[in-house]
Amino acid sequence: MSLPATFADLGLQPSLVETLATLGYEEPTPIQRETIPLLLAGRDVVGQAATGTGKTAAFALPLLQRIERARPHPSRPVLLVLVPTRELAMQVAEAFHRYGRATGTTVLPIYGGQAFDQQIRGLRRGVHVVVATPGRALDHLRRGTLVLSELIALVLDEADEMLDMGFADEIDLILDAAPAARQTALFSATIPTRIAAIAERRLRGPARVAISRKAGAPGSLPKVRQTAYVVARPNKLNALSRILDLEAPTLALVFCRTRTEVDTLTQTLAARGYGAEALHGGMTQDQRNRVMKRTRSGAVDLLVATDVAARGLDIPQLSHVVNFDVPNSPAAYVHRIGRTGRAGRAGVAITLAEPREHRLLRNIEQVTKQRIEIAVVPTVVDVRARRLDLTRASISELIRAGNFDGYRVVVEALAQEFDLMDIATAAVQHAHTAAGGPGTEADEADPPVVPAPSRSKGARSNGQKLSLPPTPRDSAGFHRGNGVSSGLVRIYVGAGRKANMRPADLVGAIINQAGITGQDIGAIEIADRFSLVELPEELVDQVITALRAVTVKGKRLTVRRDKAKGRE
Ligand code: AMP
Repeated sequence: MSLPATFADLGLQPSLVETLATLGYEEPTPIQRETIPLLLAGRDVVGQAATGTGKTAAFALPLLQRIERARPHPSRPVLLVLVPTRELAMQVAEAFHRYGRATGTTVLPIYGGQAFDQQIRGLRRGVHVVVATPGRALDHLRRGTLVLSELIALVLDEADEMLDMGFADEIDLILDAAPAARQTALFSATIPTRIAAIAERRLRGPARVAISRKAGAPGSLPKVRQTAYVVARPNKLNALSRILDLEAPTLALVFCRTRTEVDTLTQTLAARGYGAEALHGGMTQDQRNRVMKRTRSGAVDLLVATDVAARGLDIPQLSHVVNFDVPNSPAAYVHRIGRTGRAGRAGVAITLAEPREHRLLRNIEQVTKQRIEIAVVPTVVDVRARRLDLTRASISELIRAGNFDGYRVVVEALAQEFDLMDIATAAVQHAHTAAGGPGTEADEADPPVVPAPSRSKGARSNGQKLSLPPTPRDSAGFHRGNGVSSGLVRIYVGAGRKANMRPADLVGAIINQAGITGQDIGAIEIADRFSLVELPEELVDQVITALRAVTVKGKRLTVRRDKAKGRE
């Protein structure tokens, strides 16, 4: 494998290279490696790249450098970027602003839905770069408030999306209004014939750039369970916490794109009580050695790293690889997840993808010829159930190991006063709490999963809002004394722990079958032979019908309104 080129190697000027260092970008992504030198040389480029590959920087950086010395007219833009949506216009403008700050480049996003006045004032003041949706750009052209005579370069970003949204005519008219001698770059996740035709007609001898498909030979991946969660950016952190709690990794390597992200995420995770350590290229060798030593000794749960810093790491006890963002190429994905599942151990790879990054996932699947399962972010209920599972497993282990002579006297003393079942239950609760079980889910973005009501009088609830394991009083092993959270109705599902039913299975079945969202589902309790699920009244019939169609081990489920409702 050839050595990765640096941003400076690609021909970017020192001021930009410095900016990238402060942003924590350690090395160019594949699309950047190929595109930057071409655009710097003045070539037209057709790039096949989806969101998340680093394509914005791939065109923004070289074009910022090219327009730097060319400001023939103070109030006319020298660079126009056309994008399909208002959201992307803001995002791309923000990227230009970040990369161009050091060079004093000014940027203005213009899109439909925003007042013309404000945009006109911005344009009059004069900006170097305009990032616009085609419809609004054309409106301004017609009003004479946007003049393209000084344009040095024009970018069509997400061209396939723009065509899908019916902007073909607008794009044509805008291209007509731009100087023939301009430089043009076209980026598109797919290159259907319509896009190829535009490139043919409108670009001059364009270089074609696509992220290589050969990287990551199929079959070279170890046996790794691969799961992706589609989560909006603001919810990523909470989603990650839940997933980590559910998966309970021995040691996870969490990948971020930049040093800055590594630092921020490490601090946030540490503040939430995880044993998280950062590893990135901005650290001294000494600092890194220390982190690695602590990691090997088992003192670290989560190692948060950039690709560069993790290169060459070999950590046998790694159980999970987590991509906090979808890696920017299939090759990077293969590299990352190859860290786990070594030496015949089972490995787990988890990827958090933003809705717009769906395409990258599919791209990775095509290259690796392996499926990435898309999963629903676990609910708090799942996490609690999983923690209780862990507590149960460790207690079973202790019982099997025998040898608790020193403690027997304590039990005997307590047994003078209390019922053995109560003693055992209290001890389990104590062990569970001591292991950090409940009480750590204070994250704000929790979907409103309605907690089970606290136990009635004499309860051992100590404020836990858990769907606690049943106090095994009746034959089914379920304490039937609960009320139902207000406004919710409980349904009975005729399969429980004995049928390996877990809260996640019920949530999954309800979401998939009844087409409602996880947020509508209230508390779930799993007993040995049945489960109870709280739902809003208006959804109950729909969910019952849907769940009756589900089979467990080939048998249809018994599902009905719970008759125990409101007992006590
Ligand atoms: P894009 O594909 O343009 O939407 O970029 C996806 C994300 O990757 C953005 O958050 C960028 O800030 C980030 N990014 C772009 N290039 C790099 C790089 N070379 N190193 C690290 N992060 C990058």
